Amino acid sequence: MSDKEPPNPFEEIQRQLKELFKDSNVKVSAHDFSGEDPFADEPAPSAADAAAASDKSAETLENIRNFNLKPKEIRDYLNRFVIQQDEAKKVLSVAICDHYNHVRQTLSGKNSQTTEYSKQNLLFLGPTGVGKTYLMKNVARLIGVPFVKADATKFSETGYVGSDVEDLVRDLVKAADGDIELAETGIIFVDEIDKIASEASFGGRDVSGRGVQINLLKLMEETDVNLFSPTDMMAQMQAAMEIQRGGKPKRKSINTKNILFIVSGAFDKLAESIKKRLAKNEMGFGASVANQEEDLSSYLQYAETSDFIKYGFEPEFIGRVPVRCACSALTANDLAHILTTSEGSVLHQYRDDFRGYDIEFDITPEAILAIAEDASKEGTGARGIMTVMERLFRDYKFELPSTAIKHFEVTTDMIENPAACLKTLKSNNAHLQQAVWEDDIKRFASAFEKAHGFTLEFKPLAVDALIDEASQHDRTIQSLCEEKFRDYEHGLTIINRNTGQTAFRLGKLAIENPDKELSNWVVRSIESVKAKSD
Ligand code: ADP
Repeated sequence: MSDKEPPNPFEEIQRQLKELFKDSNVKVSAHDFSGEDPFADEPAPSAADAAAASDKSAETLENIRNFNLKPKEIRDYLNRFVIQQDEAKKVLSVAICDHYNHVRQTLSGKNSQTTEYSKQNLLFLGPTGVGKTYLMKNVARLIGVPFVKADATKFSETGYVGSDVEDLVRDLVKAADGDIELAETGIIFVDEIDKIASEASFGGRDVSGRGVQINLLKLMEETDVNLFSPTDMMAQMQAAMEIQRGGKPKRKSINTKNILFIVSGAFDKLAESIKKRLAKNEMGFGASVANQEEDLSSYLQYAETSDFIKYGFEPEFIGRVPVRCACSALTANDLAHILTTSEGSVLHQYRDDFRGYDIEFDITPEAILAIAEDASKEGTGARGIMTVMERLFRDYKFELPSTAIKHFEVTTDMIENPAACLKTLKSNNAHLQQAVWEDDIKRFASAFEKAHGFTLEFKPLAVDALIDEASQHDRTIQSLCEEKFRDYEHGLTIINRNTGQTAFRLGKLAIENPDKELSNWVVRSIESVKAKSD
């Protein structure tokens, strides 16, 4: 008889539904049915976890009810992380304060019935990697509201347009740990919005782009989004089962009135057409910017509503994002500032990574500039920093933890030739390497003793032989010992049964031919038992 658990019927239904709908637009989400009753009222999270999450949500909602930040305070907070983009910081700080002041009044029921409020949804324009998402993430963190980001292209690809944009709102509920009231105060960020321009003026080919705009528009205005996606079979089943079970009536929808929407995109082509428009309108201006190396994105600050409509946006859609701001490209100097002054600099991350092995590094100001210049050539904004740093540190992160090196300096030499500098660094510290290997051997022996109760003592010649072999074959002591002494637990247990011995001294032979040495020991232990009994 098999001791395997019987298959969970709900997992089986889920599997079959997935198979059935694999070529369609119907989604079958992955629910965890490992518990006893998959549709129980209060499943999965432990009571303590659920209580902690709900405390946090309650605290955030209380903060929003007491929202009293001023635009300059938000700007100052953003300054700690985001370099440049002063105009975007200003626009965003004002929009956030207006929005959450309004949300505060709504939550406390103090809204004026007479004033019409128009939401401050934002549009960020600008090249990739200049901080558009980063600004929003930091604002969301400051206020504590849930934040969700998605690319607009995702929606046009699926074809089943309508429901997908609503997934954004459902994701916000997940980001709010299921707290719908908190999700209703969250922020949704849709990137690559320029890719869903419908190009209506070029023959109206891209119908889905227009469809996505219209669906997004509905969300941006005010609508109730069903908590369960109508195209998600499992979610629908779950909803149906809950109703059948007669559980407590729960809220089934999320209202989008107080959700703030930020859309953003690079809008390269728009920049070109604005350039042309400006050149046509003002001959002088056009002539002064006719320069090969110019940064086209700088034209985005002159974007007007009519430019967006010509670009392929529905007038209603673009009208729903009244606050627009162009983020500027970052220069090599800006990237150097990000490295040295941003609290989110990846340099901190690298320092922490190396500190994990008690390794510290210094970096010269010239090296910072060199990294920034290389990163700038990548053409991906601040993301280039990550690419350059990864390339620079890859071998250092791999090699240094297994050496005695506890400190190194990042210089322009190292940036130009990381492999040669690493080699020099290692050979300058080679005299300290012996101690590291010996320490690794001791670590193996103590782990072996902890796991199996036998003490292994390596004699000096055994230590030398192990180190020789490890360095010759670029192996770690750990993997070499695991391989050599694979059968030792079993063999030593036999010896222990025969003689009671628990400590073993390993010589050179045990390294050169561990199995042979072990079987010699076992034979000797059997002989000693025999000798005693004779
Ligand atoms: P995008 O403009 O394409 O939305 P992101 O905001 O996602 O780019 O930037 C990617 C990463 O680069 C961020 O997570 C952040 O670490 C860094 N970064 C980008 N711009 C800045 C900036 N202006 N100041 C500090 N860091 C930045």
